[in-house]
Amino acid sequence: MTRPTDLNDTLFQRARRVIPGGVNSPVRAFQAVGGTPRFVQRAQGAYFWDANGKRHIDYIGSWGPMILGHGHPAVVEAVQQALLDGFSFGAPTEREVQLAEEIIRYVPSMEMVRLVSSGTEAGMSAIRLARGATGRSKIIKFNGCYHGHADSLLVKAGSGLATFGHATSAGVPPEVVQHTLVLEYNDVAQLEEAFALHGDNLACVIMEPIAGNMNFVRASVPFMQRARELCTLHGALLILDEVMTGFRVALGGAQSVYAQQIPGFAPDITVLGKVIGGGMPLAAFGGKRAVMEQLAPLGPVYQAGTLSGNPVATACGLATLAQVSQPGFYDRLAGSTRALTAGLAGAAKEAGVDFCADSEGGMFGFFLLPELPQNYPAVMETDRERFNALFHGLLDRGVYIAPALYEAGFVSAAHSAADIEETVAAARAAFAALGRK
Ligand SMILES: *Cc1c(COP(=O)(O)O)cnc(C)c1O
Repeated sequence: MTRPTDLNDTLFQRARRVIPGGVNSPVRAFQAVGGTPRFVQRAQGAYFWDANGKRHIDYIGSWGPMILGHGHPAVVEAVQQALLDGFSFGAPTEREVQLAEEIIRYVPSMEMVRLVSSGTEAGMSAIRLARGATGRSKIIKFNGCYHGHADSLLVKAGSGLATFGHATSAGVPPEVVQHTLVLEYNDVAQLEEAFALHGDNLACVIMEPIAGNMNFVRASVPFMQRARELCTLHGALLILDEVMTGFRVALGGAQSVYAQQIPGFAPDITVLGKVIGGGMPLAAFGGKRAVMEQLAPLGPVYQAGTLSGNPVATACGLATLAQVSQPGFYDRLAGSTRALTAGLAGAAKEAGVDFCADSEGGMFGFFLLPELPQNYPAVMETDRERFNALFHGLLDRGVYIAPALYEAGFVSAAHSAADIEETVAAARAAFAALGRK
């Protein structure tokens, strides 16, 4: 008997001839987990259908943007209307103003905002702005946090706090990362030490408030609080990269969650992306008026973009924010997410598999570990083979989670209780196949 042709395989072979690795962003290639990436034919609600026409329950949602699920009718309509009025003008439009007003309304630490096209661009521009506004060069980032692929941010720690980082990508000259200090996430003592050594030369500290690029690791409240205090004390800016968490974990982003626990807490600059574009290329950075007024054309910090504030993307973002800002949206979403993680935990327990999970709003993470890790080295103690087996066990059963153990997961408003039950049933079988540990 011959196996039926797998159209994902066929497409992947074709793709690899003309696109490096067959993908336009590396994690899509399934390199960490092995196997053939699923080529998406179409998607609707909580599902997508791959090249073979097989349905998957989607817990990636374009890596976060699709908080309403795929093809929400109000968003589709807004995009269709916008298209008829033109794709791009390179001149200002009212929708850019509306979107800026909406963002500022829900994220009050942002007094002004600039729209760009990707999270990478927003993060890179925020760092330049912090350097321009402070007149300083050095920056702190944390191991396991991702802020896009700008040169100065592709860094791993050097040896000791006196030496700065080493590039993690070829093509990044050492001179470009020599001002980037990489510290361990959630390590208050190390942060104190770094500020004692370099505080008065630091332009900024940039961090993911809930790190979604090492699965799901929250900044501890004392860590966040101390970072805020040290930045203020030394005149450095605190940049929260909320590209993933913004409008995903709560209407006001992760900063609103920390503000409940740290009185008066606010970052100086916030970086947004993903959900604010609703699946279109759109991102933003913003903060205090005095800082933002350093940007061209008002100030000396240059930043620009042909497609920035694109009229179709802003229509998509505005329609998405109109839905998520309805009363009770995040409570319902958080309820679905917790039902999922609780269901998965129950299934793991039945199978005798080490498991722990955490979530906030529509973002979750789980680990095949007995307790939640607090930093990147601890995340990487997850048994990779077992994670990969679980990943394929779920994928075979039509449940699509991130193809790497260091990525977060996303639940959308389109995921129903039945979808979550179906997921948990698939997980029960996948955990049982994994065996105890
Ligand atoms: C996705 C992400 C980025 C990069 O955004 P792109 O749109 O992929 O360039 C930056 N920071 C964080 C926290 C992200 O999750």
